[in-house]
Amino acid sequence: MHITGSILVTGGAGFIGSHTVVELLAAGREVVVLDNFCNAKPSVLPRIRTLAGRDFTFQEGDVCDKGTLESVFRKHDIGAVIHFAGLKAVGESTRLPLDYYRNNLSGTIGLLETMQAFGCRNLVFSSSATVYGDPAEVPIRESFPLSATNPYGRSKLMVEDLCRDLAASEAGWRIALLRYFNPVGAHPSGLLGEDPQGIPNNLMPYLLQVAAGQRPFLEVFGQDYPTPDGSGVRDYLHVVDLAKGHLAALGALHGLQGAVPINLGTGKGYSVLEMIQALERTVGHPIPWRFGPRRPGDIAQCYADPTRAQELLGWRAVLDLDCMCRDGWNWQQSGAVAQI
Ligand code: NAD
Ligand code: UDP
Repeated sequence: MHITGSILVTGGAGFIGSHTVVELLAAGREVVVLDNFCNAKPSVLPRIRTLAGRDFTFQEGDVCDKGTLESVFRKHDIGAVIHFAGLKAVGESTRLPLDYYRNNLSGTIGLLETMQAFGCRNLVFSSSATVYGDPAEVPIRESFPLSATNPYGRSKLMVEDLCRDLAASEAGWRIALLRYFNPVGAHPSGLLGEDPQGIPNNLMPYLLQVAAGQRPFLEVFGQDYPTPDGSGVRDYLHVVDLAKGHLAALGALHGLQGAVPINLGTGKGYSVLEMIQALERTVGHPIPWRFGPRRPGDIAQCYADPTRAQELLGWRAVLDLDCMCRDGWNWQQSGAVAQI
């Protein structure tokens, strides 16, 4: 049975959520977004409407507030939920573990209880490749052992576990646990992208700010990893490809039994030095960088085996590294970041 009714998108004003809402609207879905703007700005909403050429329902509110969730489910016929809402900064999670467990874990428990009460058992959840911990080998398959080394990662692993337990306890749940690798880039229009608060933690937003002259240089964390050039290797994935992966997951949910983990990555790893060179090609000038020590908790290399996504969802990433750099740079340059 295919999904009918509206799609509730929690965290739909955020980086990945906003791109996904555009794709959902373009595909003709009715969408209800719930977001408390703890890491997004209201100005993203008209941009989504402009890009999609269609309207959607927006509810400002906290996913941790059961009253808000229940009122959304009472007002709208929700056929499935895409659950992005949560906190995502690894470093911050070690300083504020309770905030992470409340938002990411309690928020999801309340959401699942509400879905159960209203008879909606279709969920697409934002998990992360972080649940693989330090993998013994690459590429990473979904069957690999799971572990976590910080409260953020543990919150993702705990939600995965509770989805598995819930699906085992009651028939009818169809849950895609989408394990994202490293989302980068931006919407090609320059209207949507990542808007990191303060100093970016992630490589691409930091590198873009160095390329734009907003920061003096990039520190490359580690030069002695067992990788071809000694710097860390990751599976960078264009956010528009990732957004389309959510549509593919929604379309395939009816064929899933229980809670099914699915990698969303390209299957190709790039080193930090290769990322610098790729962005230099895009911007047309050298980007200052220097080696620094390894970042505590970092692993040498991490890239997906994307076979299951292709088999179960009929999805694969199509946008290449040059496209990720071009759209990321366009967003950086477009002034959209400053206006938001
Ligand atoms: P984001 O911070 O841009 O988006 C999250 C959105 O959720 C924001 O708009 C924020 O305001 C909202 N939100 C947070 N807590 C909320 C709450 N309690 N109630 C209502 N709204 C709330 O992050 P993103 O990069 O778009 O990530 C989306 C999801 O994907 C997150 O769950 C994240 O952990 C996961 N993920 C992200 C990455 C990545 O590198 N960006 C990688 C793997 C997994
Ligand atoms: N990295 C870096 N300098 C930075 C930020 C990141 O060298 O300022 C490296 C990091 O060590 C890793 C890669 O870039 O090898 C991707 O880091 P990011 O934080 O974006 O993703 P994650 O490590 O969570 O996969």
